Amino acid sequence: MLALRDFSEDDMETLMNTTVAILGAGGLGSPALRLLTAIGFGRIRIVDRDIVELSNIQRQTVFNTQDIGKPKAEAAADNLELMNPEVQFDPICVSIDDENAVDVLKQVDIIVDGLDSFKARRAVNKASLTLKIPYVFAGAVEYYANLTTFIPGKTGCLQCVMGDAQDNPENTCANVGVSPTLLSFAASVEVNEALKLALNRGPDLANRLMTIDTSNLSFDFFDIGKAADCLVCSQPQMKQEKKENELSVTRLCSQSYNISPGKILKLDLEAVANNLEASYDVERRKRFLIVNIGHEIRVTVMPAGNLIVKGVNSAEAATKLFHEIVGDED
Ligand SMILES: [Zn+2]
Repeated sequence: MLALRDFSEDDMETLMNTTVAILGAGGLGSPALRLLTAIGFGRIRIVDRDIVELSNIQRQTVFNTQDIGKPKAEAAADNLELMNPEVQFDPICVSIDDENAVDVLKQVDIIVDGLDSFKARRAVNKASLTLKIPYVFAGAVEYYANLTTFIPGKTGCLQCVMGDAQDNPENTCANVGVSPTLLSFAASVEVNEALKLALNRGPDLANRLMTIDTSNLSFDFFDIGKAADCLVCSQPQMKQEKKENELSVTRLCSQSYNISPGKILKLDLEAVANNLEASYDVERRKRFLIVNIGHEIRVTVMPAGNLIVKGVNSAEAATKLFHEIVGDED
């Protein structure tokens, strides 16, 4: 970077003091993470709720076959640390939602989108407005990507642009593919926006929507703005309602359940392991535990208090295990 015209040592210093949150360490998140790490942003918070599977590796390039079964946020942090040990990684294995988004994004300077659902993005949009953090949005499917940068107070927000667009349950995970080269283009644009934001040079996609279509290699730009009637960014943001005791249970692409408590916990994993050891086989890993219950059920326990439960066939069964392993959330 330092060899580039217009990039000074002071700029490098600024990047080293910048915290970027990347939401989703999947198809978009992987190439974005590699770039952010190589460039040398000081701190990278990696937020992802899933575990690595063999089918991910073709496009989720921060992982390798040894990572299968590990939480994606943890595996990405471990691999990227080898690439640039100067960067501080902060992996958080949660499913981002209305209840935890503000907690997850506290002390972050820039949000970079690698998500795959509008539900999660709406939560991020509100948290970005509440915390006044710029949000680099990207969505990619098949050969087509949309990108824009939302800056609270200066541009419209996700709701202004997307209205009430809903997730199509048919368009999840493996059902609709996405081109790895498209993901690389889109992630490069996102990181370029993050660089401009960090260096205070004015991002290129504020009030503009960029579309990329790699089926014919076209790049288009459209002026967009704030919707006068947007109920999300026209009103002062309310404090997020905390429903601290509510668990959020999500079925994942990996046919497992993610269970997140209503707030980010700081579990003492050693104490949890000691408690469970009498009854179950417990594997202690670097920043998480794996609890094997019989031959069928495998539970990954993360320090933020969320669990990935594989091998149960209902949300109720997964929730029951949460209460057994984490106990009451206070
Ligand atoms: Zn809005």
